[in-house]
Amino acid sequence: MTGGCKGCSATVHVTREQVDRLLDAMNGKGFDFVRDALYARRLAACRSCASLEYETTCMHCGCLVEVRAKLDGKDCPHPAGSRWSGAGSG
Ligand code: SF4
Repeated sequence: MTGGCKGCSATVHVTREQVDRLLDAMNGKGFDFVRDALYARRLAACRSCASLEYETTCMHCGCLVEVRAKLDGKDCPHPAGSRWSGAGSG
């Protein structure tokens, strides 16, 4: 579904396999990843967020949340304040 948006097309839909390949490609390239428990909590917040599009993409930053949530030092860009702030650390 394109919804008539010129900037959005079928190409914005990203599969689980594509996300996994991207994360694999980033691994060992100097990116600091958060621990699995924090990653899971961040993703849980995203999955219950009305700003998640296509089950993959944050409408505020355009990021794939499964990638953004993995990165230490990143935060949720929600304009009302981070929805990850309750996710804790580690
Ligand atoms: S606003 Fe925050 S919680 Fe919502 S999808 Fe974007 S990164 Fe995830």
